Amino acid sequence: MSEQAEVARIHVRRPVGLRSGSHARVQERRQRPVRTRFLAIAPATAAPVGVVVPFIVAIVTLLSILGPSGPDGIATMSRCEAASGSSSGASTDRLRVVVSILPQAYFVERIGGDRVAVSVMVPPGASPHTYEPAASQMRDLARAQMYVRIRVHFEEAWMPRIAAANRGMLVVDSTSGIELSGDEDPHVWLSPRLVRIQAEQIYRGLAKVDPAHRDVYERNKEAFLRDLDALDAELAQTLAPVRGGRFMVLHPAWGYFARDYGLEELPIEVEGKEPSAKELAALVEAARANHVKVIFVQPQMSPRAAEVLARQIGARVATVDPLARDWAANLRAVARTLVEAIGGR
Ligand SMILES: [Zn+2]
Repeated sequence: MSEQAEVARIHVRRPVGLRSGSHARVQERRQRPVRTRFLAIAPATAAPVGVVVPFIVAIVTLLSILGPSGPDGIATMSRCEAASGSSSGASTDRLRVVVSILPQAYFVERIGGDRVAVSVMVPPGASPHTYEPAASQMRDLARAQMYVRIRVHFEEAWMPRIAAANRGMLVVDSTSGIELSGDEDPHVWLSPRLVRIQAEQIYRGLAKVDPAHRDVYERNKEAFLRDLDALDAELAQTLAPVRGGRFMVLHPAWGYFARDYGLEELPIEVEGKEPSAKELAALVEAARANHVKVIFVQPQMSPRAAEVLARQIGARVATVDPLARDWAANLRAVARTLVEAIGGR
């Protein structure tokens, strides 16, 4: 390795304030729940019917397109296709489970099946690092039997209030038994191996809240674990040709995923903020030395810094969503993107 390359490697590893796995609160485009935004523009004063009716129709249409934010302010999830059985079960006797982020809805539905109705606190497009639950979401917690936390940043500030909103609600920490890496990297849902552990915690919680159906939950959990193992093996096989490869990310969400499959993630964010001009210059140098071909950006954040960097090093920018609802398909797509980008070396 040339001396210049060595210097650049050092910049990546012990930079210029560039801490790998830094999860300070992220400066992001703050996004409010869709419902709030539309309520704010609804006409409060009397207006001619000819104006109001088309206006309401337009809002209803927009809301149905934008879905899935339910009328209660919590993004109400439809049951996932993977869960077994029909949807005929009476919703009144379903367990109400609240989770922090979208991928958890998939995990809980895989184990709870027909027995659960899952609501998600952080709506699509918002960031779990900075989200502030709506008042209506806090009120709705009163009807929940269980909350599955995953230690994303908004929980730090809100968990005491969430627990206080319903003392009878079981709070399950799905990260129990997971050793967080680096700077307490919270993105544990992006590693099928770590999701195995979360599945066990979710199962235990459901069995505790609803012991009469423990057998159902156990069967569903076992099936989910088999699928997780199969997905893990598939991802390892897909990514085998690019083992040892490095990729850059705007926000360091993919550290556990990279670790599982022998890759290295180089973050652009510096303690949750966009890099300064000086830091960007160091990143350009590091990216060149590491032959970075792809930079991941995510829909919840401005891709500006990544685009500037990509232009300078001739890399491509790929949008990947750490919070995708279709969890397994998303991980497969990310693996393919990495193989295409890194393998093209
Ligand atoms: Zn994150």
